[in-house]
Amino acid sequence: LTFNTLKMIIFKKAEDISRFIREKSVAANIIGFVPTMGALHAGHVSLVDMSKHTDALTVGSIFVNPTQFNDKKDFDKYPSTIEKDIDMLEKAGCDLLFLPGLTEIYPGGTKTETHYDLGYLETILEGKYRPGHFQGVCQVVDRLLDIVQPGRLYLGKKDYQQCMVLKKMTAIKYPNTAIIIAPTMREPDGLAMSSRNMRLNEEERKLAVKISSALSFIKKETRKGYLEDIKERAKQYLVAEGLKVDYVEIANASTLEPVENNNGNTPLVALIAAFVNDVRLIDNMLL
Ligand code: AMP
Repeated sequence: LTFNTLKMIIFKKAEDISRFIREKSVAANIIGFVPTMGALHAGHVSLVDMSKHTDALTVGSIFVNPTQFNDKKDFDKYPSTIEKDIDMLEKAGCDLLFLPGLTEIYPGGTKTETHYDLGYLETILEGKYRPGHFQGVCQVVDRLLDIVQPGRLYLGKKDYQQCMVLKKMTAIKYPNTAIIIAPTMREPDGLAMSSRNMRLNEEERKLAVKISSALSFIKKETRKGYLEDIKERAKQYLVAEGLKVDYVEIANASTLEPVENNNGNTPLVALIAAFVNDVRLIDNMLL
């Protein structure tokens, strides 16, 4: 069963897309799902491409989820390019697009009794600097997975900690949904593609690339032994360029626990969050 001959169908109602998927008797294990917040770029398209390769039905969604924004200004300024997004998804061969309004996702309001037990993951890095962010991420993905019920959920490694959080959330609630993690798509100079890059002016764009440069520096310099000095130098480099750094961390790639002393055997990941003026960007690199 394949939908390749169809044009993309857009659904605004949760009930309608759910029913459509079920009525087509599409077995869950052949449905791929790519949730996004729109302002799409080649990184998003790469997730759709991956799903197209494996799944008979590729479902995308665009919903800027207010409950995952700890900063109201960030939410208000989140870029929106909906016409272009629809065009990009259709060209990429996405079969169904879910484009819900707020009340479709949160019919009972955004407040929730559900608390997701994310443990340690929620206390560090993005969890620490963006209180409530991962609860909001879980809340919206939980709702979306309930509606779409995919066999595969496609996520980008660009949001490294988010991938870990969602693995944890889905392991219990959605055991039939496999998580597929796609590599980070970058601009030619190394900047990780991000919807928030659209907010950067020419000068800021030149500063933004320093984040991936700092990660490459860490990757090049990491040796066995203490890592504090490398982290500090990367941080100072960013600060000297005028970025405001939330964190520069080197962590165990499978647990995200910070690693001070590299034993040379543990896979490591470097993660950075920094502001270019008021635009907050994140990136990471396996070392
Ligand atoms: P967003 O619209 O930012 O919520 O992202 C939707 C999905 O696209 C998430 O799974 C992201 O991790 C993924 N994504 C964002 N940027 C990139 C990128 N540069 N490369 C690959 N995937 C990405």
